[in-house]
Order: sequence, then C-alpha cells, then structure tokens
Amino acid sequence: MYQINRKRLVKTFTDMARISSPSWKEGAMLKYVSDEARKLGCSIRAIRCGESHNLLIALRGNAKRRPVLFSGHMDTVTPCDRVRPVVGATRITSDGTSILGSDDKAAIAMFIEALRYISETEMRHGPVEILLSCAEEIGLRGIKGFDMSLLRSRHAFVFDSDGKIGKIVLQAPYHATTTITVTGRAAHAGMEPEKGVNAINVLSEIITLLPSGRIDHETTMNIGTISGGRATNIVAEKAACVLEVRSLSHRKLIRQESIIRGIAKKTAALHGARCAMSRTMEYSGFSIRPDDPIARIAVNAMARVGVKHQFEVSGGGSDTNIFNRAGIKAINLSAGMQKVHTTKEFIMIRDLIDGTRVVLSIIDSMS
Ligand SMILES: [Zn+2]
Repeated sequence: MYQINRKRLVKTFTDMARISSPSWKEGAMLKYVSDEARKLGCSIRAIRCGESHNLLIALRGNAKRRPVLFSGHMDTVTPCDRVRPVVGATRITSDGTSILGSDDKAAIAMFIEALRYISETEMRHGPVEILLSCAEEIGLRGIKGFDMSLLRSRHAFVFDSDGKIGKIVLQAPYHATTTITVTGRAAHAGMEPEKGVNAINVLSEIITLLPSGRIDHETTMNIGTISGGRATNIVAEKAACVLEVRSLSHRKLIRQESIIRGIAKKTAALHGARCAMSRTMEYSGFSIRPDDPIARIAVNAMARVGVKHQFEVSGGGSDTNIFNRAGIKAINLSAGMQKVHTTKEFIMIRDLIDGTRVVLSIIDSMS
C-alpha cells in the first residue's frame, strides 16, 4: 500500500536540508514549502509571528469526513548556515560540520510527499491541514503565538519526535522555570566585610539545599544558570539562578516548587538576605490514554502499513503540548530523525518512506 517515490522524497528532503533556517529565520523554508504546496492545489496562509511566520496549508477534501491536522516545525538548531546533506545507500547525514535538520524537515518532506501522492493517485480524503511552526527550538515560540481558532481539525498528529517511525508519545511533562534572586548587602570586602551580606554565599547555600536532578519517576529539577556579584572587592549584593522543574503530574510540579520556595526563603532569612522569586509556566503537560481514539488512529494507521508502534513518555515539550492545552487532541510521533541537535544527526531513508506512508494511512483512516 502507498508506493512512495523514494528518489523524489529524498530530493525534497535534501533540498530543504540545504536551506538554512535557524529560529526566526524560516523565510526561505516557508517559500520552498509554500511553492510546493501551492502546486498541489493547497491553499496557503503565512501568519506573522514574532520576527517570522507560521505556515498553515490546507487541502480541501470531502467535507463529510473529519478534518485532520499534521504539524511540524520549520526552524532548526544551529550550526545550520551551510548544511550539505550526504545521501548514502540507506541513510542521509550531514557532512559532519553542521546538523542535518531532519528535526524537523523530515516531517515536512513526508507531508509534501504525501500531498503529491494524493494528487497523483486521486486518493479519496477529507480535509487536511498542515501547520508548520516557526521558532519551535527556542521555546515553542511559534506555536504559542499561533491563533488556534484558525484550525478546523480537532485531532493533531505532530511529527517531531526522534527515533524510528513507530514511536508514539502519549505523555509529556509540565514545565516551569523559576528565577531566584537573592539580595544581600554590599560592603567593602577588605575594610568592613562584616557589614555586608554576601548574596553569592547565600544563593550557594540555597542551591546546595535544593533537591535537584531526578526527583521521582515523573519529576525532574535542574539549576541551569547562575549569575551575581560585581567585583572581588565588593561583598556581593545580588546573585541569581534560573532553574526548571518538569513533571508529568501538575500536582507534583506545584509541590516541588513550593519546596523550593520554602528552602530559598528560609535560608535567605537566616542570613539576613532577601529572596525574590519569579516563575514562568513554559508549557502544560499532557497525558493521553493508549485507548484514546487518537492513539488508536495512529496505531491502526501504522499497522496497515506494517509499522510496529511503541508508546513512549517524553521528558520534553513540543508543539504537541500547546495543541493539547488549546483543546486540540494531539500526539507526537517520531519522524525518523536520530542523534538530533548534533553534527552526527542522520535519518534512514526507510524511515522517510515509512513516515510518509503513515501520514497517508492516517489521512485514509479519518472517516
Ligand atoms: Zn523538533
């Protein structure tokens, strides 16, 4: 089922891999994809977001069938200013000096090839929407700035997980960051250090007391950056750190944050320092049951094309989190990419083909 044009699919992927598209600079990618989709009879909307655009592609279909949304992102991590894909017998790599960009251009190549297949074979289908976000790699900024009311679909299949085709992410964590700022009292470090309260010392003590790393099987905490002080001859007045807490359970996230706040406040007070905290919810988690209709659609679609599925829990967020938060049921599927965010990134050509067949199979199964 679904004979895929391997040569054309590989060319589409490598054409896109060559396009440099770091976050907020997705313009050339957007143009390439828009041109292809337009040729295939799709309508295109580039919707301004920050310094770039999100791209919404729509293919009309039998209005009696349920619309379905596919999603991926156009930006890549760096280094990506000069990507030279190397096509081997079974896999595609970069030349070793850059990332490849299969995260997430593999997904986009699959979507385009699926559209071509539909147009060539006149496969029957319902309405198909494809949303390609910008600035995903720098905190899901594109999707967060997207107006979800533009979408008709109630089901979204995001192809933005690594690994061989078949992986289905049903759970991903809540994620919040907190900045702890300690204010002590400045004093001359040589003449009257006893008049000062060193914020760096106080913050260090707080940090050593905070539970970090893996808290439990659903929860993690990490101190990511610290800063503070101005010169060696000044008792440091200010010091700050930024930390993150992630948990599959919202309750546990809140609990962990309250433990952190308690330790920070108490320790600062003990040393006569002040402690301020500001917190940002980066994204909400989601948890979808294996017997949920959307999971079943994916599993059955994979089975039809001979792909073995495998359910997984993710430790990270993706656009999928934002769709779910907005009331569009979404799961994250692997797009075949491996060793992502490194110069050793690669993708098996087999996975590009299988991914395209899974996309088609999902479209076919939306009744
Ligand atoms: Zn990605």
